Amino acid sequence: MLPKLIIVVPCYNEQEVLPITAPLFREKIMSLIEKGKISADSCVMFVNDGSSDETWNIISSLSQADSVYCGISLSRNRGHQNALLAGLMEAKSKCDITISIDCDGQDDIDAMDEMVDEYLNGCEIVYGVRSKRDTDTFFKRTTAQGYYKLLNKLGGEVVYNHADYRLISSRALYELEKFEEVNIFLRGMIPMIGFKSTCVSYERHERIAGKSHYPLTKMLALAFNGITSLSIKPIRIITGIGVIFAFLSLLLIVYVLISYFCGRVVPGWSSNLISVSLIGGIQLISLGVIGEYVGKIYLETKQRPKYIIEKRTSDNESE
Ligand code: UDP
Ligand code: MG
Repeated sequence: MLPKLIIVVPCYNEQEVLPITAPLFREKIMSLIEKGKISADSCVMFVNDGSSDETWNIISSLSQADSVYCGISLSRNRGHQNALLAGLMEAKSKCDITISIDCDGQDDIDAMDEMVDEYLNGCEIVYGVRSKRDTDTFFKRTTAQGYYKLLNKLGGEVVYNHADYRLISSRALYELEKFEEVNIFLRGMIPMIGFKSTCVSYERHERIAGKSHYPLTKMLALAFNGITSLSIKPIRIITGIGVIFAFLSLLLIVYVLISYFCGRVVPGWSSNLISVSLIGGIQLISLGVIGEYVGKIYLETKQRPKYIIEKRTSDNESE
């Protein structure tokens, strides 16, 4: 039996680009069906992440016009990661494989052929990896690559140059569902599922229309979230720094005592001030980092829902 594919597409205020990319996703599904790789009831599922523009209306009319499209709408904006997870969890019981992709046309949809081939070869997860980063600015490129390296050094297993364009089988999604954390960073969580997996490379293009929803502040938040939800090494590093400073201050005390008994007591105002402010600074940073983890624990203990589905395009059909 051929596997059923659902392409999961999170959308937030994408009224400009959705009418352009939706037919591209449809074409891809049709060509995969024609090639005999996926079943004829495969479809595209849009997740409206609480958009304030016409996005949901576009999704509704697409689904009314063509059964290859369907969609769910979240009760409010919950961010890319939660929207994607909502789509994957909705899709898992309805298909054999999902491919998640952004709706802005940046990721090359032709890589889907190879992804499906790899699934047919026995892989449960196939990561889309960017071969080049020409379309990114120099700043985004260098910071992103430095970040991947840092994350891996800190013990988080992330696939280099992979964003959220990937194939996941429904079997792997049922395992992902068991990860109950609230602070989600899918790029780091999915490699933890395990199973046979592989990478497929593709070229990333410019956004077809509309603008990015990841300004620097959101990017930094995602980056920081990535580190603190995958690794506790920063806390260990701080402990290490604390130990080194404690040892140094011990030496300092010995030196001061010796100076005192030798009668060489100096005003020492400047050295005092420097050490106090230096150690004070380090302590504040350390508290901040520890506080970050404590905050995470606080959010996790509340176990709030990660998203709430308000409506589905299938609701219209039953009316
Ligand atoms: N997105 C979302 N919720 C948000 C922000 C973004 O669902 O709060 C979706 C957006 O519609 C797009 C994808 O996530 O399909 C990636 O966003 P974007 O293209 O703006 O990010 P970039 O590619 O610039 O990193
Ligand atoms: Mg984009």
